Amino acid sequence: MAKYIFITGGVVSGLGKGITGSSLGVLLKNSGLKVFMQKFDPYLNIDPGTMNPIEHGEVFVTDDGGETDLDLGHYERFIDENLSKVSSWSAGRIYAEALNKERKGQFFGKTVQVIPHITDLIKQKIYQAEEKSKADIIISEIGGTVGDIESQPFVEAIRQVRMEKGKANVMFIHVALLPFLKVSGEYKTKPIQHSVKEMLSLGIQPDIIVARTEGSIQQRLKEKISLFCNIPVTNVIVCPDSDSIYKIPLILKETKMHEIVAKHLDLKIQELNMESWEKFNNDINLSNDKVKIHIVGKYVELSDAYLSVMESLKIAGFELHKKIEFIWVNSRYLTKENIEKELKGAKGILVPGGFGEEGVEGKILTANYARVNNVPYLGICLGMQVACIEFARNVLKICDANSSELDPETTNKIIDILEGKDRKNIGGTLRLGKYEAKLKEGSLAKKLYNSDIAIERHRHRYEFNNDYIEDFEKNGMVISGVFEEQNLVEIIEIPSHKFFIACQYHPEFTSRPIKPNPLFKGFVEATSKNQ
Ligand code: GLN
Repeated sequence: MAKYIFITGGVVSGLGKGITGSSLGVLLKNSGLKVFMQKFDPYLNIDPGTMNPIEHGEVFVTDDGGETDLDLGHYERFIDENLSKVSSWSAGRIYAEALNKERKGQFFGKTVQVIPHITDLIKQKIYQAEEKSKADIIISEIGGTVGDIESQPFVEAIRQVRMEKGKANVMFIHVALLPFLKVSGEYKTKPIQHSVKEMLSLGIQPDIIVARTEGSIQQRLKEKISLFCNIPVTNVIVCPDSDSIYKIPLILKETKMHEIVAKHLDLKIQELNMESWEKFNNDINLSNDKVKIHIVGKYVELSDAYLSVMESLKIAGFELHKKIEFIWVNSRYLTKENIEKELKGAKGILVPGGFGEEGVEGKILTANYARVNNVPYLGICLGMQVACIEFARNVLKICDANSSELDPETTNKIIDILEGKDRKNIGGTLRLGKYEAKLKEGSLAKKLYNSDIAIERHRHRYEFNNDYIEDFEKNGMVISGVFEEQNLVEIIEIPSHKFFIACQYHPEFTSRPIKPNPLFKGFVEATSKNQ
């Protein structure tokens, strides 16, 4: 039977519950346990797929095509496991399921209530994770802060899980802010006390408190938290701010959090082996050399909208002992007149994914700038589509080349919805999740992946229109990756260019600290050589 760890948040949001949970996951995995993670989001949207990236940050995509919260990206990067749709639940998705059941008469006319019907469904999702993952430990994060109206059914459900599974099988970890008051020069424990009081009123006594602080604290403060919050002082863990999230597993290692958890849950663990994380952290510390990368996107107001892209670049940089400096360019404001000025001096340009026509012409101009000026270019999803449109317009001289997403009337749909025999089931909807691309002999893609295939995750609707392949290839663009089963273009590249490669998939979702994604690694390398 799996053991469960629930992570809740107190005082304020944004304290890094996800990073705390995943760092603990790293420690437990490296102590020989199989770890799986889940996130419960109290908002009422059914999934993050249709939420505004500027408000909510990126949509992280799992192997099985789940469109999930960006925290799952942290989980995967930290615990180095492929998660699935089972890992991400919003209140909206749970309520929608309950209401559907009600419409179908599956509650047999009973009054449908938050307790027990919604809480039963939440518990079902928790227990399902055990069934699907066969993990020893399921770490589930409850989004938001304890006390929020929306999170109450989740808090109630995890209380019931503890009752059903017993104290020895379920642990509650509360991550809360221990604020430092500059005026009086002291830490204040009162907000944590109040937050724990709130939890107690909901029937939950935390087993561990992770106090999020600016720096280290005195033992007497830990004792105070222990006394007021009714937990042993050993279970008060201090996690100070860090300049890199990837240092947190090593910070928590020092607190012996994994041993406290193992003891509470009666888990047999092996000696902790953090060699690869220590090496990775060492690389971070050696990464002083700066490499500038221009990211030309349209959601640049919120860098979280490109979280996995940024982490993938950083990770690739660390392996090469380079520190990435991000230069954000909003594609909405790029014009023929200002592009030279805006991208002047760019040493490497990345155009990430995006939806809708706004800002796309700016991205097309960017792909042109990179191609003509021999600046390393990595195009992701829409970033590949714009590179193809640009190539068709300026090299093949097809002036009205476009994507049917952007101009449904154009006669030259270089990027189009491909409907036909093979695609009839997914025509008009998103292609989601992992697909295998066969890589072309002698191509840059094959060299970078050092393999015949690349298995990567997708989230897009439009595809390269194969009617144009011949013309593209005759004029110097190589189709270097194809999903053979449906004959879909996955990767394009220009061999005569310093480094020009773009893919229809999202390579940012498979970068892991110890294994940077090959496209990012190649791109950062090419950019750093170009400084
Ligand atoms: N809007 C494009 C499509 O749907 C690209 C999507 C993306 O970049 N994720 O095909």
